[in-house]
Amino acid sequence: MSECIFCSIVAGEVPSEIVHSTETTVAFKDISPAAPLHVLVVPRRHIDDASQITPEDGPVLADMLVAARAVAEAAGVAAPERGYRLIFNIGPDAMNSVPHLHLHVLGGQPLKGHFALA
Ligand code: 5GP
Ligand code: ZN
Repeated sequence: MSECIFCSIVAGEVPSEIVHSTETTVAFKDISPAAPLHVLVVPRRHIDDASQITPEDGPVLADMLVAARAVAEAAGVAAPERGYRLIFNIGPDAMNSVPHLHLHVLGGQPLKGHFALA
């Protein structure tokens, strides 16, 4: 079993509610949802966080954004009618808690404010 919880989820060693899966990405429901739609899109390949992205990672980042759109469309919250918020947390001040790159896909209700500052 991997020491990284999201690598373990990608490997199928830890159960999760997977909602979308591609050759390079996996999307699963957040265990502690902050909105009616709260899905995490992760690359299958371990990357620590968004600050560690290099130009060579461009394709997998694009795959993550395309996966996020597919998740939103499947959940019925796609733009332009509804919409959703995409978040990368980096480091302790942003309360990043899992050190495997993940894109939060939040939606399903009008989201308050543009940014959560506290
Ligand atoms: P972060 O705070 O690092 O940006 O986000 C990590 C997210 O991962 C949190 O929203 C947390 O609820 C979620 N999470 C942590 N452990 C697990 C897990 O084992 N399974 C799932 N599905 N989500 C998890
Ligand atoms: Zn990992």
